[in-house]
Formats: sequence, C-alpha cells, structure tokens
Amino acid sequence: MAEVRGSVAELDPRRVRTNLERVRERIAAAGGDPDAVEICAAVKYVPATELGALAEGGVALVGENRVQDLLEKRARYAERFEWDFIGNLQSRKVREVAPVVRLIHSVASDSALRALERHLAREVLVQVNVAGEASKGGVAPEALGDFIARCPVPVGGLATMPPAAERPEENRRHFARLADLAAEHGLGRLSMGTSQDFEVAVAEGATIVRLGSVLYA
Ligand SMILES: *Cc1c(COP(=O)(O)O)cnc(C)c1O
Repeated sequence: MAEVRGSVAELDPRRVRTNLERVRERIAAAGGDPDAVEICAAVKYVPATELGALAEGGVALVGENRVQDLLEKRARYAERFEWDFIGNLQSRKVREVAPVVRLIHSVASDSALRALERHLAREVLVQVNVAGEASKGGVAPEALGDFIARCPVPVGGLATMPPAAERPEENRRHFARLADLAAEHGLGRLSMGTSQDFEVAVAEGATIVRLGSVLYA
C-alpha cells in the first residue's frame, strides 16, 4: 500500500521490546485489549540482517510490502515470525505470495481474485478505499459486497490505508467507516492504523495495527 522509504540500521532488541511495551500501553489507553490487538511490524524499512533483533525484541508478526523482500526475508527467518503481506498486490505475484503468508491484507482487484482461484491463499483481507482517493487502490465501499462474494478464498476482514493526515483524529471517520463495513458484512478482522494514528484506529475497533517507525525509533 505505502511507498518504501529509508531503512533502519542497528536495531537494539531491548529498544524494540521497550517500544512494543509502550505501544501495548497506548493500545490499552485507547480502549483496546493489548493481548488481542495484533501488532504487525511493517518491515519494509528493516533489512534482513536486522530481523533477528526484532524477533529477540518480541515481535511475532511481520508484514512485508515487496514480494522479493518477503521471499528473501522469509527464507532466512521463516520460523521466527508469522508473515503477512501488506503491500500492493499485483495479480501476477499472487502465485508467490499466497502459499507463504498467513494473511494477505491487500486484495483489491478482480485480477487478484482470478489469480487467487489458481493459487489459493489461507485467508485474505479486502482492502477498501474508504476515503475514495483516486490515487489509491482499494475496493469502493459500494462494491464491497459483490467483491467479497466473488472472492474464491476466505475473506477474514477488511484493511485500509487512509490518507496521510496531519492529525490522527482526521482519520477517525475513515476507520469508523471500515468498522461499519466489516460489521455489515459479518467480518471479524480489521487491519487499520499505522504509527501515526493507531490509537484512533484501535478506538474504532482495529484488530491488527501495522506499525513501522514507532517500533524502530
Ligand atoms: C509502512 C507501512 C505501515 C507502517 O507505517 P509507519 O508509519 O512506519 O508505522 C503500515 N501499513 C503499510 C501498508 C505500510 O506500507
């Protein structure tokens, strides 16, 4: 979904652990259950050589954006984490991604659905374009019911990447909308919220937050 920026170097496992603890405290303060809200570490900034520090620091679930990086990192650390795919899903990459991840967060096109017919994934989230941004992928809320009905693999929930907001509060209505849509379609998982706005997302019912910078700072 998002673009890849610079990379982090020399992660200290103790710092990662402290950051994780702080995030859990902030999840609880936002009204979430810190044992139930999953923290998916967005590892696009993290070189493979630093992933060991994440594992030692207590990270259990990682999300990668790029297929090549996913395959390389997973080849080295398959057993140390659960792996999710959180990047833009190109249909021609479904074949490589589907068999190796727990959850794909970003199913949003009919070509991806067709690829999933041939390369079954365990479970997927449908990415919804809640803010109606022309520049972004994601299924339009009005089209969601039909899209879910056409999906050949289990749809566990919804995901969204709202606009970059100056204040986290600005995204509350987008998170609330995604939660409403999930409830309407009887879906349990809600992947929403990044370092900038995860507390608001949790307050609106996020079950998975995707966090990068706040874990590595
Ligand atoms: C990078 C990324 C995140 C995390 O972003 P941070 O601002 O570093 O927390 C979340 N979701 C997706 C799809 C990403 O690509």
